[in-house]
Amino acid sequence: MKVTFPHMGNIYLPLKALFDDLGVEVIIPPKCSKKTSDIGIRYSPELICLPFKINLGNYIESIESGADTIIIPGGCGPCRLGYYGQVLKEIFNDNNIDVEVIVLEAPDAQLGKFLSMLKRVIHTRNPYKIGKSFTNALILLNKLNSFEQIMLKNKPYEKYKGTIKNLHVSLIDKLEDSIGSSLMIKTVDKALDELNKIRTVNDRTDVIRVGIVGEIYTVLEDSVNFNIIEKLNDMGVEVHKSLTSGEWFAENLNKLFFGKAKEIEAKEAAKPYINSFVGGHGRESVGNTVLYRNKGFDGVIHLMPFNCMPEIVARSILSKVHNEKNIPILTLLLDEMSGEAGYVTRLEAFVDLLRNRKENTKKN
Ligand code: SF4
Repeated sequence: MKVTFPHMGNIYLPLKALFDDLGVEVIIPPKCSKKTSDIGIRYSPELICLPFKINLGNYIESIESGADTIIIPGGCGPCRLGYYGQVLKEIFNDNNIDVEVIVLEAPDAQLGKFLSMLKRVIHTRNPYKIGKSFTNALILLNKLNSFEQIMLKNKPYEKYKGTIKNLHVSLIDKLEDSIGSSLMIKTVDKALDELNKIRTVNDRTDVIRVGIVGEIYTVLEDSVNFNIIEKLNDMGVEVHKSLTSGEWFAENLNKLFFGKAKEIEAKEAAKPYINSFVGGHGRESVGNTVLYRNKGFDGVIHLMPFNCMPEIVARSILSKVHNEKNIPILTLLLDEMSGEAGYVTRLEAFVDLLRNRKENTKKN
């Protein structure tokens, strides 16, 4: 059995570590590219959301490299993630593509069902080994996310431009060449030490701070958001992502073991505007915008794929948050027809607006 899974930011590294530890052969799809999206678009229903199309491109590229089993997470609520598994099976069936699709459902706390699906993929029955492999994967994921958040925060202030980016590129190269979670965790620890030692300027008062909210795939997968986060860093903007793959993973484990997601800060903050689940991370987009405002961020960028129901709901509510909380919000709608140049122009205009606003506030 050769297992594959889609890209979503850095999540492929802990998943690789997990399957390495469990003795399962893994085929990691090539990084998302124009070819990936072209393949996905060719086989997908036209109106399905963008993440599905890119994921499908990932699967087909992995199948071409020998993968025979696909693992995907399940979903529920007014979000298409719950249908992904079934739609995929039908597409593969219609196109005579021979591959098994295993959907790891976690929404209803069906731990027994989850474990029996897992047993189809892994060969060990040793609960200690399974538990340790999952724990190490989660540790690795969280360390990677810490690295990323520190990187996004410190890049605009680094004394010697390019030092942090070089460290990040070298870390990813080393992790891709490593086998097993222990070595990967040590590699990230070493890189984190180096990152914390990189010299930054002391005066941070003039730097613009922007929070990123929105649909999780477009927040985490830089190839679909035109690398806007790196572009903002290059414009001298400090960036914080409201969603990380570690929190998403931990939330799903929580649902699986305890039957419900823990109430996170963002849901509390969203309560005056929206008090019910709208699928995906729509409610969190609203709550995190409020939290960024409370923490003194200068603006918020809201990322949403075309046709994404949860974020359409969030977008309609965010205009009220913008008016009441007086925080600038830029919504970027992403689909396969989007052109990079248009996004860069909008980003530059948004950053100029935030700078002018900050200057004026200072003067007053
Ligand atoms: S959150 Fe939106 S884009 Fe993501 S799977 Fe659900 S409907 Fe599609």
